[in-house]
Amino acid sequence: MTDFYDRAQQLEQKQREAALRRQAAASRQLGASLTHCDDCGEAIPQKRREAAPGCTRCITCQTEAERLRQ
Ligand SMILES: [Zn+2]
Repeated sequence: MTDFYDRAQQLEQKQREAALRRQAAASRQLGASLTHCDDCGEAIPQKRREAAPGCTRCITCQTEAERLRQ
């Protein structure tokens, strides 16, 4: 029974890692195209693009957009 769970866990981890790799690859492509804020045109810092892959706004505009949405 333990073996079964070990194998299931290993399989689960492999699938999770593969999913993360796919997501990271997709995020890199998205991030690469969004170097500048959609709203104000300011450059989006590399750190922010890594922290929020696929982001379309600089942190100022994003904060403002989230505030208005609430
Ligand atoms: Zn902006």
